[in-house]
Amino acid sequence: MSIHLVNPSHVAFGIGVITPRWLYVLAAACPESYGTPNLVDETLEPLDLATIKKGDIVGISIHTGNALRGYEIGTAARAAGAWVIFGGIHATLYPDEAANLGAAHSVVSGDGEQVWPIVLRDCMAGHPLPRYDGGRLEGGEFMKGRWDLMPQGRYMWASVQTVRGCPKHCSFCSVWRTDGQKPRQRHVDQVLDEIVQLRRRGFRFIALADDNFYPVTLEDLRMADRRADKSHLEQLTAIRKERFELMEGLAKLPSDTVCFTQITMEAAEDTEFLEAMRRAHIKGALVGVESVTPEGLKDVYKNFNESGEALVDRLKQFRKHGVHVLGSFIFGLPSDRPETFDACLSVAERSDVAFAQFVMLTPFPGTLDFAEWEKLQGSEPPKVGSIPVTRHWLIPQSLRPKVYVEHPVMSADEIRRRTQQVWDQFYSFRSIWRRASVVSSLKAKLAFVLISKIYRQMYANTGIATDSARVQRSANRARLMAIPCRYLFAGKPMPDLELQMPQRVEVQ
Ligand code: SF4
Repeated sequence: MSIHLVNPSHVAFGIGVITPRWLYVLAAACPESYGTPNLVDETLEPLDLATIKKGDIVGISIHTGNALRGYEIGTAARAAGAWVIFGGIHATLYPDEAANLGAAHSVVSGDGEQVWPIVLRDCMAGHPLPRYDGGRLEGGEFMKGRWDLMPQGRYMWASVQTVRGCPKHCSFCSVWRTDGQKPRQRHVDQVLDEIVQLRRRGFRFIALADDNFYPVTLEDLRMADRRADKSHLEQLTAIRKERFELMEGLAKLPSDTVCFTQITMEAAEDTEFLEAMRRAHIKGALVGVESVTPEGLKDVYKNFNESGEALVDRLKQFRKHGVHVLGSFIFGLPSDRPETFDACLSVAERSDVAFAQFVMLTPFPGTLDFAEWEKLQGSEPPKVGSIPVTRHWLIPQSLRPKVYVEHPVMSADEIRRRTQQVWDQFYSFRSIWRRASVVSSLKAKLAFVLISKIYRQMYANTGIATDSARVQRSANRARLMAIPCRYLFAGKPMPDLELQMPQRVEVQ
């Protein structure tokens, strides 16, 4: 009997940008007595079905974007006689779908680390339950990954999680509903221990795969301080203190370490936090800008963001403190107009962001937007073939619409076309070269250009283009560019690296 853990993907690039952390964490949760699990990441190469034998156990984790491919794998694995187990956000939201379309024997909801050995035990005994609930683990219970199983030279960034959950409630995001609004922080020494292990193996680029690295804002503290009962203020202060302790520990990593995270824009007013990030080698962050207009921010319940020129100033703050921003923008919001695209491009180009992504509003399950949109479609939603658009992830990739939410003034094709134009303009050679001034040496500038181009190929053309030939061409180009790119990210293994754990720190 073998255990296979499969990360599904309908497109393989040969090289992965970020390690799919769940594969390595679940591998760590497999009891040693079952042998070494076989890890398959289809963003590198497709699963070889011939490796799956009768009686094997196949664990597949899905999010909405790769659910359909996951179901193909599940069905094939069950036909080969394996036990098929689904987990991940999408399976948590739609367990019946995973059972019916993915041929799952069992579906695990919530955090998988602790319940996984129980699922394996039941499969071995021949009677797995149809459902398991992994619940929400506390930060101290999160497991580290089995990085000894990682293939050499296939990933650019390692991934380490420091906190799950996000206190915000953005309408297009499911994180706060699935991972919860209470930040669950992992113990500082566990995070550092895992990063040290990765540095020993030659990873110097570390993605902090967090929902929101900045779970307590200055405004949260001010509001809590206004209450007579100070217990909430004490809780928030404790969370913030732990963030600083973590960053103090990260600061002790070798100086060529580069960390990347996700953060809300409010961090821009917290210069103490930004300076701690700089010392902690956190040199990049995805910032959800979403919209450049106040109306757009209201559309997505993100009133805590700035718009217009105040937005440009806020984004510039990150760069001033040494944090390079990957700005994330959404197009197709109800308040968007044709001129919004140019306004957004202008903000992206003037605000010192190093990279940007421009996504089209898609109602994803688990979000408030989805619930509202699904209700609007009524009992007879439009269909593509036999599949209702309210189950858009089940529509084959080549037939899948790019825009689902009817817009008051623009057609779906206009939104798609204008979005593509913004990608093209932001990632034109001239624009990239101008932004490459963030680094000084010629070698670093060339690396910046290469990374910008590969990012565009991987995320724009394969996600927005309607023409499948263009998608395929982009995947091929990204594959070719990814090979030299991987060498830019490789670090020297540091097998003897040791790190002194941080002392507790005092912050305001
Ligand atoms: S989009 Fe970001 S800030 Fe908003 S709820 Fe999701 S994780 Fe939190």
